Amino acid sequence: MGQKQKYIFVTGGVLSGVGKGITAASIGAVLQAKGAAVSIQKCDPYLNVDAGLLNPAEHGECFVTKDGAETDLDLGHYERFLDIELTQKNATLSGRLLLELISNERAGKFGGKTVQLVPHLTQAIQQKIKEAAEGSDVHIVEIGGTVGDYEGLSYIEAIREFAQTVGRANCLFIHVVYVPFIGTSKEFKTKPAQNALNDLRGFGIVPDAVIVRTDNPAPDSVAEKIALFGGVPRHNVQLMPNVDTVFRIPNIIASNGLNTLLTEFSGLTKKPDLKKWETVIARQNATPTKTVTIGLVAKYMDNEDTYLSVIEALKAAAWHEEVGLMIQWISAEKATATDFAAVDGLLVPGGFGERGIEGKIAAARYALDHDTPYLGICLGLQVAVVAAARKAGLKDANSTEFNPGTKHNVVYIMEGQQGKESTGGTLRLGDYPAVLTKGSKVAQAYNETDIVERHRHRYEVNQKFNKEIKQGGLAITGTSPNGKLVEFVEAIDHPYFVATQAHPEFKSRPFKAHPLFVGLLEAAIDK
Ligand code: GLN
Repeated sequence: MGQKQKYIFVTGGVLSGVGKGITAASIGAVLQAKGAAVSIQKCDPYLNVDAGLLNPAEHGECFVTKDGAETDLDLGHYERFLDIELTQKNATLSGRLLLELISNERAGKFGGKTVQLVPHLTQAIQQKIKEAAEGSDVHIVEIGGTVGDYEGLSYIEAIREFAQTVGRANCLFIHVVYVPFIGTSKEFKTKPAQNALNDLRGFGIVPDAVIVRTDNPAPDSVAEKIALFGGVPRHNVQLMPNVDTVFRIPNIIASNGLNTLLTEFSGLTKKPDLKKWETVIARQNATPTKTVTIGLVAKYMDNEDTYLSVIEALKAAAWHEEVGLMIQWISAEKATATDFAAVDGLLVPGGFGERGIEGKIAAARYALDHDTPYLGICLGLQVAVVAAARKAGLKDANSTEFNPGTKHNVVYIMEGQQGKESTGGTLRLGDYPAVLTKGSKVAQAYNETDIVERHRHRYEVNQKFNKEIKQGGLAITGTSPNGKLVEFVEAIDHPYFVATQAHPEFKSRPFKAHPLFVGLLEAAIDK
């Protein structure tokens, strides 16, 4: 762009969880389509150091970046929308910042000064924003939570100061508010949104644009009222009702007043090319001639956020294959053979802890015995290996995660990982290479033999049992380059039974389906 670095701050008011992350990602997608190099960052106010130890049922999936950062699921939205790979720099948490700050204080780095939230924490936040922005034309920062939350105030103050430092003209503040519809009086109520805008102004930030989230389309008068009371020009107030697919949001942004604002702000006059999104939307809305049902053998039932990237990867594969997709939730705790027989393919996703583990082993065994297409992800590989070893006669074969005393520890904990079971940041995390066996199903799927995938696990296949694993029907078709770690297994003489120790779902994109998921869908179509 050859101009000064630009920053866009996306804040939220009234409620959290109304699509701030998708909005931030979509703004990024539009700018990217106008030719900008876009980077993006999530700032979260909570005191965890990363998302690794958070309960996925409460917080959604833990998204892992290539450098092994355990982050919140918004980073997944960012990667899918922008088709970039993010790192720890793109996930900033209060807990992590405070830990650094206090360690520096202990190390005597403050030279006797009183260490305070303002200016020390706020400066640390600004430093993180600068670092994450490096190399981009436009850097987008999403602030988690809602403005006014006690714990998020340091971020709001930090971005106010930041704009002062880099120049207000180089910053865009976009506030996402929720407007409820009151059924009894049949009206949209803008008061909470007005208050939210007042709150933001009270902290010294006058937003340039407001995005108004509603469940159903709202009349123009709602936007006019927010513009008037919020002190924002009407053309910068964008109504944003729920839509059939989130991938439509970039188009909505690009075809409204916000596009003019983004053009003026970035200096990029090029009309955004959003063809790839139009293709995704068209595929999603097409009437399929065939629909396949994939059984998701899950511990957290009906909780899409917990398996968000897996579900998005399945959808992308279905769009790629131009088939309809039905996801059948199968409770790992209650599953029976009838449940497994009712679907066209089975997927066992990653997981931790013993609950439901026998159901997952049973799913793998069923798929192995009945030629059912199967994709095992991380824990899904480990249960496949247990199932195969049991099939070969090792009745008490198990992972030491679930039966620490078993003699047939076909999945076990590596030496360096012992004693770290409940601790944060100690898993095998992020990108690791694997070498695939020539001619294997996985090598065919990837169409290469040297691949890299992201990881998040502590246990590994115990190669002492390679003979039994093979007897049970599984071939090891991918390992770490030194051969020590098993990365891929697949069933011998089976239409498609593939499992990986990695998490391929993180690298799937809506318009670039992941080969292992495509493989599962293709086999399920043929079933
Ligand atoms: N619990 C298993 C491990 O730690 C699997 C982890 C996962 O599925 N991500 O190795």
